[in-house]
Amino acid sequence: MPVLSPTKRKKIVIIGAGPGGLTSAMILAKRGFDVSVYEAKNVVGGRNAAIRTDGFTFDTGPTFLMMRFILAEMFQEAGRDVEKYLTFKKLDPLYRLKFEDRELPSPPTTGPCARKSARFSPGSEPGSTGF
Ligand SMILES: Cc1cc2nc3c(=O)[nH]c(=O)nc-3n(C[C@H](O)[C@H](O)[C@H](O)COP(=O)(O)OP(=O)(O)OC[C@H]3O[C@@H](n4cnc5c(N)ncnc54)[C@H](O)[C@@H]3O)c2cc1C
Repeated sequence: MPVLSPTKRKKIVIIGAGPGGLTSAMILAKRGFDVSVYEAKNVVGGRNAAIRTDGFTFDTGPTFLMMRFILAEMFQEAGRDVEKYLTFKKLDPLYRLKFEDRELPSPPTTGPCARKSARFSPGSEPGSTGF
């Protein structure tokens, strides 16, 4: 796609630098628009932010990303290679739910439940390119 001269580029203002705003911004910028992003907080990331206190870090939103292929697609759309920007680490187990007196086992990766999940969300099954 030809890049327009700065004076001819349409301006787009995005309010909010969460994943939605940032993803839109990088794709629109790649498509030749003059994009500005305004964020109310002093950090970007929206709900992906964390609270750090007393040596502990608490997620305020997503703890893990399950569909890596979506990130890959978004970066590709913006003309970038996601692997150059993010380091992916497969978690096994994905998570553990611990209560005072018991622990909930992590979700099964095989069997009928896993097969239903794979049908509902292709790419999330074990061995696929997504996590
Ligand atoms: C507890 C929790 C767990 C989650 N777990 C997962 C998960 O495991 N995996 C996953 O993929 N997703 C998860 N999500 C969902 C994910 O966090 C959201 O889908 C994603 O953050 C939405 O992105 P967004 O850009 O639309 O909005 P947000 O992340 O909310 O970002 C909006 C941004 O806009 C800013 N803003 C708002 N109003 C203004 C204004 N007037 N001027 C300037 N800036 C403004 C805000 O400060 C914020 O930075 C979780 C969400 C929560 C709450």
